[in-house]
Amino acid sequence: KQQTLSILKPNAVRKSLIGMINLRLEQARLNIVAMKMLHLTREQAAGFYAEHEGKPFFENLLKFMTSGPVVVQVLEGEDAITRYREVMGATDPSKALAGTIRYDFADSVTENAAHGSDSPESAAREIAYFFTPNEIF
Ligand code: ATP
Ligand code: MG
Repeated sequence: KQQTLSILKPNAVRKSLIGMINLRLEQARLNIVAMKMLHLTREQAAGFYAEHEGKPFFENLLKFMTSGPVVVQVLEGEDAITRYREVMGATDPSKALAGTIRYDFADSVTENAAHGSDSPESAAREIAYFFTPNEIF
């Protein structure tokens, strides 16, 4: 089984969508094996999104990601990385398929409700960024 890192972003938490989104994840057999709620510092958000440093949307992304608490989770399942990205839908919600998390719950490209790792390498880095092995079940 494969693991991936999920973040329910501040707009999803503000709109009380934690339960709704996690219901979809569990129904998709993306099992939650670790979870915590935290309010990211600017440094934590910048380190997490280091690959996007210097891009035009970076400042807005940091402002948004630190605007309120998030829920970070490790999801486990068959082909979890790709399948979670399918359940989330495209980064830009106007391109996301109907029925995906971003189609239903994103407010904009930046405020797109959820994050999911994009490769096994990024999943390993991102999971270790937020969790120690003994926090993952
Ligand atoms: P994430 O990494 O959050 O799961 P993603 O892998 O679909 O999303 P990335 O290209 O990694 O997309 O971008 C990271 C985040 O930066 C996006 O989720 C979005 O919040 C923001 N972002 C990306 N591209 C843009 C853009 N063109 N304009 C505004 N915000 C953007
Ligand atoms: Mg990404």
